[in-house]
Amino acid sequence: MVNRRLRDGVGIGTLIAIAIAGGLAAAEAPSGLVARASAASDDSAVIVGVAPEAPVQGDTLSVIVTAPRSLQIAVSFDGTTVGVYALPAGARRALIGTDPTVATGAHRLIVTVTQRGKGTVRIPRGVRIGSGRFGLRTVTMGPKTAGLITAENAATERRILGTVLGRRTPEALWSGPFVAPSDGTMDSPYGDQSFYNGRRAWWHQGMDYAASAGAPVVAANAGTVVLAQSLPLGGTTVVIDHGQGVLTEYLHLSAVTVRVGTRVDKGMLVGRIGATGLVTGPSLHWGLYVNGTWVNPLFWMEPRPGVTQ
Ligand SMILES: [Zn+2]
Repeated sequence: MVNRRLRDGVGIGTLIAIAIAGGLAAAEAPSGLVARASAASDDSAVIVGVAPEAPVQGDTLSVIVTAPRSLQIAVSFDGTTVGVYALPAGARRALIGTDPTVATGAHRLIVTVTQRGKGTVRIPRGVRIGSGRFGLRTVTMGPKTAGLITAENAATERRILGTVLGRRTPEALWSGPFVAPSDGTMDSPYGDQSFYNGRRAWWHQGMDYAASAGAPVVAANAGTVVLAQSLPLGGTTVVIDHGQGVLTEYLHLSAVTVRVGTRVDKGMLVGRIGATGLVTGPSLHWGLYVNGTWVNPLFWMEPRPGVTQ
């Protein structure tokens, strides 16, 4: 049974399978395709697994497509094309980040399967995203720190970060759940709406750890250092590329112990806690970026089928 085998082998909760024996139908795949898959042999089936079962804002959706290599696979989410990458076992995967700005409720995921010269099948999937139940955080800062918030600084930050956040390294370098980059106390969660000195600012695009200045900051997973420099708001910053559009950033450091190009393993020292940039005391801001979206790092710290498992 194709379904049973894949359910066990991939560990993905929600599956759709289509039979492609005899070529692809140039039509939208109807619902209820799982039943047809049992009639197909293993090497003529396309199986789509989507996880998690009940995502909330901040989660990362994984779409794993098991299909013969000769088929082209494309994935879109709410009409936007998402990068599809090969996995070592032969399947292909798209990772879709969500954040507090993604509307709760129904979204449209489409997997398009193309067989050269034979046609295309569209496999539509409804995905419901629940509320991340984010809170508020109020930050009080002195005039010197608050004065860092300027359009010019924000533009500089965007320009420099943008050059590395746009990387899409084909190979996935991470393995297993991500680890906390600091053994300090996590004192400001992801997703909260920030108010700086009473003014509404942006939502919190990562999570903060309070620790003493000089305490170690480690790589949350394996990857390549792609940025190690000072930024106007992030302060002294390290960014690690974990591959397939997944990157982590480490802000406000007092020191950096790696260089651009350094290959790091999970848990390796990359810098030291500091208070540089837009921050009120020694603190680490840790952000996790997935193909264009700052997602909830907590999600990646647990075993997740198709992502960290
Ligand atoms: Zn932060």
